[in-house]
Amino acid sequence: MIKQKEHVDKFIKWYVGDKSKNNERINKTKLSDIIIDMFPTSFVGDNKKEKARSYVRNLLGANGNNNRKYAKMNVVDFSERTYDPKILILDIETSPQAALIFGLFNKYIGIEHTDEDWFMFSWAAKWIGDDKVFGDVLNSEEAVNQDDCRIAESLYNIVNDADIIVAHNADKFDIPRMKLRFLVNGFPPPLPFQVVDTLKVWKREFGSTSNRLDYLNRNVLKIEGKKETVGFNLWKRCYHGDADALRDMYEYNRQDVVALEENYLIIRSWIHSHPNLSLITHTDCCPNCGSKDYSETKSVYRTSVSEFIVHRCNNCDAIFRSRSNNISKDDNKKIITTTAR
Ligand SMILES: [Zn+2]
Repeated sequence: MIKQKEHVDKFIKWYVGDKSKNNERINKTKLSDIIIDMFPTSFVGDNKKEKARSYVRNLLGANGNNNRKYAKMNVVDFSERTYDPKILILDIETSPQAALIFGLFNKYIGIEHTDEDWFMFSWAAKWIGDDKVFGDVLNSEEAVNQDDCRIAESLYNIVNDADIIVAHNADKFDIPRMKLRFLVNGFPPPLPFQVVDTLKVWKREFGSTSNRLDYLNRNVLKIEGKKETVGFNLWKRCYHGDADALRDMYEYNRQDVVALEENYLIIRSWIHSHPNLSLITHTDCCPNCGSKDYSETKSVYRTSVSEFIVHRCNNCDAIFRSRSNNISKDDNKKIITTTAR
């Protein structure tokens, strides 16, 4: 039951419109706290805060895709925590593999036809929760010499600061390719990090026709990105050290990082094996986004002999479970289990 509903709704509508206009994300918890301050008599009884939050949640959730998306894309402010999980959104662009061929109709290019190995043109990245996109790109001379040592070093330093690296096709492309360039350029193994491969998540969880990042953002999630499509010619020009092409490549790379962050934030709650932010921050919080704002659901998660309370995050919507068994010791003794063989 909510009093002054009309005023509250009008305020929420204005707030959401204002934030969306400035492309800012909507913090539902903050919004519900503002509502309680502004309309103290709207929610009556105990748990006023909870009531206001669930009201805001329901309203924004049912109020069109855009608000829903903005709501889900909240990034938790870790500034007051003792430890801030460093989540790096990363994308690297590499050169084509050169090969010497006699004709265009050879379907198979043997290893003896290949020339120098590929190298890195550029890398771009951003930290979650920070607007700055940064990175590095070869200059013309480095591209002609196929020398990516300088940009491998700047990437190496960033990677050593990351707890988690998010990349689309991370496990098969970005991570092993990046490591090869570290090896070739004489760097020791980087410090350990955990990986979120968004391509793997898309393949495992959803049945999209294509799992290419630009297709997913444009055709599935309907996020209007600024990204232009570029042809193979750009890679060829970069390979020959064209300064304009290298600049365009870096811009393309940077746009990809922004697109990847949006994609990741929308699917984040669906990632079952997300690196555990509760463990990284040593706090009681949502494993997927780090928010402390979550609620118990009516559901339980069962293993073969244990049962755990299921919670849902009020910030990103992820579901997760408690670690203590929901079944008392006495009841647990009565439970029978199946045989493995
Ligand atoms: Zn969450």
